[in-house]
Order: sequence, then C-alpha cells, then structure tokens
Amino acid sequence: MAERYDLMVIGAGPGGYVAAIQAAQLGKKVACIDKRGTYGGTCLNIGCIPSKALLDSSEHYHQAKHSFSKHGIGVGNVTIDVPTMIKRKDAIVKSLVDGIAFLFRKNGVKGIFGTAKLLSKNQVEVKGNDGTTSVLEADNIVLAMGSEPSGLPFLPTDGKNIVTSTEALNFDKVPEHLIVIGGGFIGLEMGSVWLRLGAKVTVIEFLPKFLPLLDGEIAGMVHKSLVKQGMVFHLDTKVTGAKGDGKQITVTAESKSGPITVTGDKVLVSTGRRPVVKDIGLETVGVQVDAKTGKIPVNHHFQTNVPNIYAIGDLTAGPMLAHKASEEGVAVAEHLSGKPAHVDYDIIPSVIYIWPEVASVGKTEEELKAAGVQYRVGKFPFLANARAKAMDEAEGTVKVLSDANTDRLLGVHIFGPRASDMIAEAVTTMAFKGSAEDMARIVHGHPTLSEGMGEAARAAWLGKAIHI
Ligand code: FAD
Repeated sequence: MAERYDLMVIGAGPGGYVAAIQAAQLGKKVACIDKRGTYGGTCLNIGCIPSKALLDSSEHYHQAKHSFSKHGIGVGNVTIDVPTMIKRKDAIVKSLVDGIAFLFRKNGVKGIFGTAKLLSKNQVEVKGNDGTTSVLEADNIVLAMGSEPSGLPFLPTDGKNIVTSTEALNFDKVPEHLIVIGGGFIGLEMGSVWLRLGAKVTVIEFLPKFLPLLDGEIAGMVHKSLVKQGMVFHLDTKVTGAKGDGKQITVTAESKSGPITVTGDKVLVSTGRRPVVKDIGLETVGVQVDAKTGKIPVNHHFQTNVPNIYAIGDLTAGPMLAHKASEEGVAVAEHLSGKPAHVDYDIIPSVIYIWPEVASVGKTEEELKAAGVQYRVGKFPFLANARAKAMDEAEGTVKVLSDANTDRLLGVHIFGPRASDMIAEAVTTMAFKGSAEDMARIVHGHPTLSEGMGEAARAAWLGKAIHI
C-alpha cells in the first residue's frame, strides 16, 4: 500500500523546506521531495548563499587591494586564488544544505531525493534518485518547485562560455571580459563579484531605465556608483545574437543609437527566471497555470484551483525572493493546521548585495506620486554618519518616505554599507504601522550605521535631521 502523509511538499527550497518543517512542528506527518539530491533549493545551492559567499570573498579581495593601505595596513602583493574561493563557497553551501537535512530529521520530516509527478490530486509518483519508483499519498500537497533561468531563445547557454548564474558561481578563473545580459539583481551581483576580482564587466540591459522597480533617486545613485567602480552599461539595448569561436564571444545588440557589438570571453545570461511548472503532472490533475506569467494562481490561502493542492514561492505571483517563499511556507503550513495565517506583501524587503548595498521596503517616490499620495521625504547621507566615516564607507544615503498627513511610514530606501541589515528596522516599524516619528524616536546606538535611519526618519517627520 502507498505510504500516506498529511502533507506532501514538492521542492525543498526556502518555500518547501520551511513549509515542511513548520507543518511537522504543528503535528502533521510530512514528506518533502526534491530532485536535486540536496535540500535548500535554488537559494542554498545555486542562489542566495553561494552568491553572497563569493560577494564577501571578492569584497575582501577588493578591500585588501584598494582600501587596506588607507588604514595603514600593508599586505604586499594581493592575489586571488579562485579555486580556493570557490571551495570556500562550496563548503558554506554544504554546511547549510546538510543543516536542512538535520532539521528534517529533528522535526520528523521525511525527506526524499527524487523527481515528483502528480498522478492524481492525492497521489504523487516519485522517481527516486536511487533508481526506485514509488507512489506516495497525501491529504494535501504543497507545490514548491521554484524557478529556473528563463534565458533567451536565440542565445542558448552552453554551461562554459555562455552561462547562467549557476555556472557564473563556478568560474575557474577570473574572466577577462564578462558580458552580462540583463541588469537585474542577479546580473549586478554576479557582475560585481568578477568586477572586483579584476574582470572587465559590461552589462547590456533591454529596459531604458536602470533598476526600474527601485526608487528612482536611489537607482540613480547605484548606477553612478557602479559606473565609478568600472562597470560598463548599455541600457535600452536589445541583444540580438552572439557568435563565438570557443574562446571569445561577440554579442550583437541594437541600441537606440544603432547596432553595437561587445566581445568578451564569458557571457552571463541573467534575463530573469520562470516558474518550474512543466513535467509535474499539473495538467493531469487540472492545476491551472497563468498562460501569460507561467505562474500558478492561488487564493489568499495559497490554494490552487484544485482545493487540496497549494502553491508557494517562486511558483506564485509576487517577488521571486527566498524570504517571500519562506513566509508563504510558514503561512500555508499554519493554514493547513487550522491556524490564522497571513503574509504582508506590502512590507517584503528587497536587497541587492552589491557594494554599497541597496535595500528597500514599501513604496517608492514614483509609486506614491502615481497614486496621488501626499508624502514627505527625509534623507540622511552616510557622509554625515560617524560610524560610516570611521569605516571609510560613507557612500550612499537613507531615504524615508512618510504620509504627509499621518506621518505613517510608507517606504524606506537605503543605498549604503550593510543596508541589508539596516532595512529590518524599517520593516519592523512598518509592520507595526509605525510613523517616521516612531522610527526617529527609537534610540539608536552610537556610533552605528542605524543612526542614519533615525536621522532620515527625523528629517521626514520634522523636515530636519540633527547632524546635517
Ligand atoms: P527553489 O529554491 O527554486 O526550490 C525549488 C526546488 O524544487 C528545487 O530544489 C528543485 O530541485 C525542486 N524541484 C523542482 N521540480 C521538482 C520535481 N518535479 N520533483 C522534486 N523536486 C523538484 N533571493 C533572495 O531572497 N535573496 C537573495 O540574495 C537571492 N539571491 C539569488 C541569487 C541567485 C544567483 C539566484 C538564482 C536566485 C537568488 N534569489 C535570492 C532568489 C531565490 O533563490 C528564490 O526566490 C528562492 O530560492 C525561491 O524559493 P522556492 O522555494 O520557491 O524555490
């Protein structure tokens, strides 16, 4: 007889593995299946974690080469050993994915390595990575198969010279010239890694505006900063093809001022990601997929049109971010356990881990203008922040947007050192429906970067910061 579970989760990424653990903690009998052979999904294996490991390594190298001397530290000839850097990254990934296996054991989640396919609304066929095939049954199923690079139909990747982010995490040496097609957060982060290590990096972006979803003023600062660091940008430029001789690739593109060609030794295609919805048996059981977006429509309980089948994470509408997937994982498990569950989509922070970092939450100035909201702006530059000066990291600014009538915090946008950690304060304040005054009156330690948050909030609330 087929083994039966309360809940079967397909995909062990930050959506799926979190849903599985949370459901098990709430008393469910849970199985979680992943075909990868390790848990943690895109995020832990080939996404968030390895990219941040390389960003940190490359930042250390860059600091040693360009900044240590300002501190009076001499380190002689700074070199980079790429295989060691990659090995360190792999070890971090391994420790984290092994950590998920440990958490599964600790919480009684049955983890299975294999490829899952829906046979019916309660039955899943699992082709195990060990060659076995079994059929499992479950009362409820959570789909969490995540996403994969969408690529360009006329520019197939070869895993070697024309690559996706996965291979760009594993180059064996620093490219001479990395051409990045697609200037989103993945392209900029991977471009930053190799730029810092000495590669020439050219970014070709189809859209006319740089990072169009960011607050425009902040995006302008980021663009300028990356150009200053040496990144070359072709915006409003449509790639039309690429030709290679095994060593060099020439990318052809149409810019507003005419055709251009760019030649490099590596091309990273980072033009976006699409949900994994093929070969899962969705059509067999009648789970609908939005023809335009490729995403699976769900209601506010993450329920698909088939009532006992749920979908979360990159498969569903909203930003393709690990913490969004995890929040949905918690919420779907809570819902299935009869608890109230809710994800506040208005306050999902987003971060770009270039340097200085970029982090934002809530509305941009452009969105507030378009919605006709009366708002106030408070800004505080890191140049006036003592800790940032002490760190010699005084580039960037904190920008706070608040409601002109109620003072309620509407959006916070940071370009600066450790913005990724600082944004949490804004998210917390907004989660409690706090005001600019609330954030200004919170006592911030001194000297800390977070004082910039208080100062920018004060500027939004009263029109003036103290230290500028
Ligand atoms: P995934 O993590 O994609 O996991 C889905 C899993 O399902 C996969 O392991 C897959 O093997 C499995 N699967 C698919 N089909 C089947 C099947 N039929 N049977 C069994 N298993 C199956 N997000 C952030 O928030 N912060 C970051 O810094 C960040 N950096 C990123 C950097 C890169 C280079 C990339 C590529 C992505 C990054 N992301 C980041 C995005 C983040 O990785 C995703 O949003 C997140 O992993 C989505 O989680 P998920 O659980 O929906 O799916």
